[in-house]
Amino acid sequence: MGKKRKIVVIGGGASGMTAAIMAARNGAEVTILEQKDRLGKKILSTGNGKCNYTNANMDVSFFRGEDPSFVSSVLHKFSTEDTLTFFEKLGVLSKKRNGYYYPKSDQASAVLDVLCMEIKKLGIKVCCNTKVLSVQKKKDFLIKTSEGTYLADALILSTGGKASPVLGSDGSGYVLAKSFGHSMTPVVPALVQLHGKGTFFKMVSGVRADAQISLYVDGKCLASDTGELQLTNYGISGIPVFQISRYASFALYENKRPLAVIDFLPEYSTRSLTALLEKRRKENTAKTAEEFLIGIFNRKLIPVLLRASGIRSDLSLHEITKEAMEKLAVKCKTFEIEIIGTNSFEQAQICAGGVRTRELHPETMESQIVKDLYLTGELLDVDGICGGYNLQWAWSTGVIAGTAAACFERKERENR
Ligand SMILES: Cc1cc2nc3c(=O)[nH]c(=O)nc-3n(C[C@H](O)[C@H](O)[C@H](O)COP(=O)(O)OP(=O)(O)OC[C@H]3O[C@@H](n4cnc5c(N)ncnc54)[C@H](O)[C@@H]3O)c2cc1C
Repeated sequence: MGKKRKIVVIGGGASGMTAAIMAARNGAEVTILEQKDRLGKKILSTGNGKCNYTNANMDVSFFRGEDPSFVSSVLHKFSTEDTLTFFEKLGVLSKKRNGYYYPKSDQASAVLDVLCMEIKKLGIKVCCNTKVLSVQKKKDFLIKTSEGTYLADALILSTGGKASPVLGSDGSGYVLAKSFGHSMTPVVPALVQLHGKGTFFKMVSGVRADAQISLYVDGKCLASDTGELQLTNYGISGIPVFQISRYASFALYENKRPLAVIDFLPEYSTRSLTALLEKRRKENTAKTAEEFLIGIFNRKLIPVLLRASGIRSDLSLHEITKEAMEKLAVKCKTFEIEIIGTNSFEQAQICAGGVRTRELHPETMESQIVKDLYLTGELLDVDGICGGYNLQWAWSTGVIAGTAAACFERKERENR
């Protein structure tokens, strides 16, 4: 039997660990180079410590990026079912909440633990506290790190993007990918809080409301989501905000002025809300404008909605015109916030944009520019919405790259 081919994986995160496991299972000698003091730090923070590792509803519509057909191909090769089976075989049983899968134990550490156990079992060499500084391909790959130089026959770049750098992904992967000639789409924070223009945020900070939020850029609605909106002292947060945030980020990057339009009562049409307000007005003539909205909206929100509608909070209901009441109904359903910024990469869960997927082969994740170079995970120009999609992307691309890197090597050997 010939000498085992050496595969180095840069980055021991979600996609790097799966790539390493699959490469080792397929006969390669694998080394993981990880700059943090341990593997998979980010996994421990996922899903609020519970790790939402995939989703029952999985298709390309939950992902964004320049090339949807690339995403389709990857998901087709390694799907939700494959992820559940992969982890079940490693020991993690799943539990499902509204289609979101978590480990049965509700502990992200379970996912990390079983990956680490498998890495150990397969004899994969793990070098932590080892930052890769530069990579070069001559005959082999020459990998310069903070701890010395490594050689490899194949290289898998699994460095992540630059969201949450405290957990390891500091953007250095982009530099490495570019050094091989890869190009990138702009990278912006995504699944992130948004900053709004206005002086009222301090008044409503802490308010939560079930609302629909839509993001408009140049008058066009680009995204919309419904769920628990959180108002903060600088803007808006919560899952529905995260879901639309990448569009706001890109608009700001292009110096555009995104507008978030909030529907505080999505279950009512403007017409039915106007009728409801009119009915309440007739039944409560002794109340002030502010008092009459108590029971519908959070108390802190009421003065803000009234002011936006041009109604003084202390006016008696009989003093409010029919037109003003109609305007109030419209404002409750289309409350506008001009978005002036996002929180930074430090607070963002992921980044949108990255290495162009059209420069890779979707069936292997191999670079079309450099032979034997593979790229995985968040480093690429693909971002998923909240719900386990980004980890699914990491597992799928990791499995495909690791398998292909090792199987390619086996094929080559057999042909020799
Ligand atoms: C707080 C938080 C919660 C999240 N929750 C979820 C969730 O519940 N579900 C979900 O699907 N997604 C979630 N995500 C997103 C998901 O965790 C990421 O998309 C996924 O981990 C990306 O995997 P990756 O392998 O591409 O990169 P990462 O997991 O970021 O791993 C990259 C690794 O490479 C290492 N590295 C980088 N550069 C170098 C270098 N030069 N030399 C050596 N090592 C290097 C880093 O230290 C890191 O360990 C969450 C993210 C965050 C921040």
